[in-house]
Amino acid sequence: MRDRYWWWWLAAGSLATAAYFLLPSDGLASNLGYDAIGLTATVLIVAGVRLHRARRPAMWYLFAAGQFTWVVGDLVWEYYRYVLDVEPYPSPADYFYLSAYPMLVAGLVLLMRGRSDAARDFAALVDAAIVAIGLGLVFWVFVMHPIAADSTASTFERIVGVAYPAADALLLAMLARFYTGVGTRSQSVRLLGAAALLLLIGDVTYSLIELYSDADEGILDAAWLLSYVCWGASALHPSMRTAGTAPEQVRGARVGRSRLVLLAVCSLLAPGLLFLPGIGADPVDRLAIAGGAVVLFLLVVVRMSGFVGQVQHQADLLEDLAMADDLTGLANRRRFEHGLRTALAAGRVQVALLDLDDFKGVNDRLGHGVGDHLLIVIAQRLRTALRSEVLVARMGGDEFALLMPGATNAEADRIVARLADTLRAPVTTGEHELLVGASIGVTDGYGTDDPYEVLRRADVAMYAAKKAADRPRRYAAELDEQSDEQARVGAELRTALDTGQFRVVYQPIVALSSGRTVAVEALVRWDHPERGLIPPDRFIPAAERNGLIVELGEWILRTACTQAVEWRAEYGDLAPERMSVNVSARQLAEPGFADLVAAVLEETGMSAGMLTVEVTETAVFGGGQAVQAVQDLHDLGIHIALDDFGTGHSSLGLLQTVPVDVLKVDKSFIDGITTAGRPSVIATALIQVSAGLGLTAVAEGVETAEQAAELQRLGYELAQGYHFGRPVAEPPFPLPGLVARH
Ligand code: C2E
Ligand code: CA
Ligand code: CA
Repeated sequence: MRDRYWWWWLAAGSLATAAYFLLPSDGLASNLGYDAIGLTATVLIVAGVRLHRARRPAMWYLFAAGQFTWVVGDLVWEYYRYVLDVEPYPSPADYFYLSAYPMLVAGLVLLMRGRSDAARDFAALVDAAIVAIGLGLVFWVFVMHPIAADSTASTFERIVGVAYPAADALLLAMLARFYTGVGTRSQSVRLLGAAALLLLIGDVTYSLIELYSDADEGILDAAWLLSYVCWGASALHPSMRTAGTAPEQVRGARVGRSRLVLLAVCSLLAPGLLFLPGIGADPVDRLAIAGGAVVLFLLVVVRMSGFVGQVQHQADLLEDLAMADDLTGLANRRRFEHGLRTALAAGRVQVALLDLDDFKGVNDRLGHGVGDHLLIVIAQRLRTALRSEVLVARMGGDEFALLMPGATNAEADRIVARLADTLRAPVTTGEHELLVGASIGVTDGYGTDDPYEVLRRADVAMYAAKKAADRPRRYAAELDEQSDEQARVGAELRTALDTGQFRVVYQPIVALSSGRTVAVEALVRWDHPERGLIPPDRFIPAAERNGLIVELGEWILRTACTQAVEWRAEYGDLAPERMSVNVSARQLAEPGFADLVAAVLEETGMSAGMLTVEVTETAVFGGGQAVQAVQDLHDLGIHIALDDFGTGHSSLGLLQTVPVDVLKVDKSFIDGITTAGRPSVIATALIQVSAGLGLTAVAEGVETAEQAAELQRLGYELAQGYHFGRPVAEPPFPLPGLVARH
């Protein structure tokens, strides 16, 4: 309700203004009605200050005082007119009228001072001066000068006569300032502006009519009355509370089209006046116009230079943005390359590349928010650990780079070693405490001026550091050969897949009680034309890195399924009941992996119940897409085996999040099973866990009969290892007669 007071007053005040014109003009009644509206507005301003608890009450009291002084002036004038029946000019009423202006102007000054932001507002101030001087000149030529030059009036009359337009000129300047200012205006402030504008329009029109026409000025009372109404409404609007305080939302001092037009028109007003007939003949006018034109010209120059400065400032800002990394505020790759080029041209330079270990894992496991926070913390550490001569950049992802111009090898190595220590401290984000390792490669710019070659060397060194999981590495030519080797393997894999150099071999998984091969595990081999059979450990990591594992894995799956179906057809019930296929993390992360598996099953005629997919703990540890894929596979009826079980970090925890059917107990626990010690304790515990959870356990890497016997004694039913059979293309399934032996 109280939020709408202003609106009710605006409506009531406008109605009262209309009613005022219904009263016989110039009668005492209409005059008193006029005073009543003015007085009400005054009271409402004070009420508004109390009601909305204005933050800047002083300016409102100035407005109220100005209004009140006016009303008093009117009453004085009416006293002379209706009581004493005289109309003196100047009269004591004029003192009141005139003294009201400084109060209003002072209020407006307070309003604008509170709102302005010095630096940004300077341009607006210049704009205001251009508008005020341009319009002021016109005002001078048409209003002030004629009044001042009126030879029929006494000097005193002339002084009072000029005082009014002078007050209006002041008001004009304030309004020019008001409307060219920056920042959004609240409703209350807009009403204030309207009130002052109405006052100015009323005054100026009055002066013009007085000077140049015989028209009746009575209608102008509407402007003044509505000005009162707006002043009151402004004070009643709830947004008055913050009027005169800093604007909440500041737009930059934009130079919009309309503002340009306004400035152009106002600065052309001075010379334009000279084109009017009869103007400029008077020496005083000429002086005023010439002086005004000069000042306007200078102001426009100031404004232009300010504008040029602003453009420059914005260009700098844009460059900063284009050269900085959004997330961390460090330099970005562009700036780094630029700096590197410059430093190489200048002479000695050291470059370090730094890559966080398992950042992808953090992102997948804990979400991107945590990942981002981690990057920000690392960036901060880099910044504080390094002196300002070192340019630190984020090159993208989790890769950072340091540029150390002029540093020697020893200096750079020292800096980097210190940095590696700093990074070892755990990072706390939210409830997580993360230990992040970083791999760092360092190089100098020896013998090259190509920034990309320097970055490549740093990259090679960094990969070497990452692979060896050791301290910062410095680039050396030998590293190139190793990484060439990697790149070559990557390229060769493609050819190998296209030309059919891969084979799948099968290793039996046997039932300890019967010795029967109940399942086989498919294991891939690379039959290299020159180097012979290459074990998977030597090429699977490369295939994972370059993504070929996705295609290769699909081929393995298809081959294994086809084989399983063939064996079924050939050996019937003697063929292994299940086919186990290894699936890498990269495959699980591939969208639609479960659909692909379903399609392969369909295509090969293999039933889902015959397939087991082996995944490692680390592949599903991250959660997210990989776990979803495993879930989807499980939903298809495929069994899930956790490979190398026990070697991961949270083996038991995983059993709650991932649907698991089989635990493949890692060879490291089986190796020591025949002697007392930790491994045998773990192997014992694991069989109990899997029994408790209703899972099947498979002992991996069983090499001796003793191990097999011990496992059986512990309760293991299934086992796999060289003792039972190596992985081969065609494992010997027992002939029907032999099965009966058990
Ligand atoms: P894995 O899944 O744990 O496979 C078992 C590995 O242990 C095989 O090595 C197998 O030959 C070996 N092994 C079996 N019994 C014994 C034993 O009694 N003693 C010893 N010392 N070793 C034994 P392989 O075939 O070299 O495979 C190594 C790894 O390569 C596999 O470990 C698996 O992680 C990966 N891999 C193999 N084939 C594939 C595949 O088709 N796809 C994917 N994604 N990975 C594969
Ligand atoms: Ca496996
Ligand atoms: Ca394994």
